[in-house]
Amino acid sequence: MRALNRAFVLLLSAIVLAACGTNPVTGERELQFISTAQEIKIGEQNYLPARQVQGGDYVVDRDITQYVQQVMQRVADASVRVNADQDRQLPYEIEVINSSVPNAWAMPGGKMAINRGLLTELNSEAELAAVLGHEIVHAAARHGAKAQERGMLLQGGLLAAQIGSAGSRYGNLIAGGAMVGAQLVSTKYGRDAELQSDYYGMKYMVEAGYNPQAAVDLQETFVRLSEGRKTNWLEGLFASHPPSAERVARNRETAAQLGGNDLEYGRDRYKRAISALTRDADAYAAHDEALKAAQKKDFKTAYKEVDKAIRLQPREPKFFGLKGDLALNEKKFKTAVAQYDQAIKLYPDYFAFHLHQGYAKQELGDKAGARRAFEKSNSIVPTPNAQKALGDLALAAGNRDAALKYFASAAQTNTAVGKEALVSMTRLELPQNPDKYISTRLALNNSGQVVIQVHNRAPVAVRDVQIITAYFDNLGNQVSRTQTMRVRGSLDAGERTTLTTRITDANGLRAQVSKARLAE
Ligand SMILES: [Zn+2]
Repeated sequence: MRALNRAFVLLLSAIVLAACGTNPVTGERELQFISTAQEIKIGEQNYLPARQVQGGDYVVDRDITQYVQQVMQRVADASVRVNADQDRQLPYEIEVINSSVPNAWAMPGGKMAINRGLLTELNSEAELAAVLGHEIVHAAARHGAKAQERGMLLQGGLLAAQIGSAGSRYGNLIAGGAMVGAQLVSTKYGRDAELQSDYYGMKYMVEAGYNPQAAVDLQETFVRLSEGRKTNWLEGLFASHPPSAERVARNRETAAQLGGNDLEYGRDRYKRAISALTRDADAYAAHDEALKAAQKKDFKTAYKEVDKAIRLQPREPKFFGLKGDLALNEKKFKTAVAQYDQAIKLYPDYFAFHLHQGYAKQELGDKAGARRAFEKSNSIVPTPNAQKALGDLALAAGNRDAALKYFASAAQTNTAVGKEALVSMTRLELPQNPDKYISTRLALNNSGQVVIQVHNRAPVAVRDVQIITAYFDNLGNQVSRTQTMRVRGSLDAGERTTLTTRITDANGLRAQVSKARLAE
């Protein structure tokens, strides 16, 4: 009944809050549940976690990021001029993500990112403007907000909460992690939204003074590359933006319609601007080779390649981070700590360096150091991994309440480490609070006797389950003496059982689990 009421209230408020608005790009009328302020908030909450889980920001040459920001601003200003009749101004922002996977995305509210691996595939500033124009339309035309309204995106929750797929054992660190969460920002918006983004994106780039032919060239490059099936491409941009002959043809039509053949491409300027990335191409290729080798457990090659990467570009924190992961994997904990120190010096605000360094310090018996590292990691992006580790440390220090809090927080995520945290939490709490983990329901059987259906909802087996029953009046006062019943043997995780009583009057009867123990 209570659940029904709540659903009804939610439905009501949704009806009240939904406004009939005008799409800021197309000018069409549409029902809008998420306000511009909410869109901006969703973007602000998820921007940093999304960038972190996809590899962190590119920090070796901030001039490149500034350049991308300038081009983005030029296109964004143009979009405002094109949509001058709209009073909606989004606080556009863009960062370059340190990932070789070619990708770009926009969040609701105008927060955007482009990967290092896409920048190196583009041939001109106008192609960059085409990518950015396309992403600006996704944000401006509320494609992300609409996806969220349809329940396709995470409901307001933090992306970071889903990071912990690797479990709490650091052994799988190299294989897991980095790309988890990527799919959350590369939601498929659908064919119409993509065509709309192509069309208006090209309008914006022309208004900004870029030759729209670059958008056609870009799509042709995408089609060609997807036919070559470079795996990186398939997991990146193409997963959310399938290239197609249709998009090439449409862009060609749009370019003809918009004119602007005399507008600039900015090829030389682009080459100069990203020259640091071009120069470091071999270093990143070596890093990616090292990662691939490590995933195949060919650690000799992995070390050779990562050392090569460091030789070629000693200012890239990611290279030291990978070397730290390799050392951690080999249980060379002191070496791992030293490598992570190098990485942290170059990029203090990347959660994974601190998290992994915490694991290494824990193995070395440096509990205080480990705790500081996990806390720092958790302050950058809260992850179930850091929370589980902090919970274990708190428990070892005898701080039961703090441990419970950390475990509960980690257990909210649907991840391997979240499940481990749930087990830890249950072990800690079930003996004192069995009713929270083992539920009971009263029913009548065919003979008219009251039966108690017992369900062990805990993720672990329990035994010695004791249930008390008593009668209560309408005001909630107990009116009979308590009777005790016991479940024989043990109940596995998730197992149900039924106790048959001799009681025939269920009116006012209540049951509660009063005692239980962990089975092992
Ligand atoms: Zn798109």
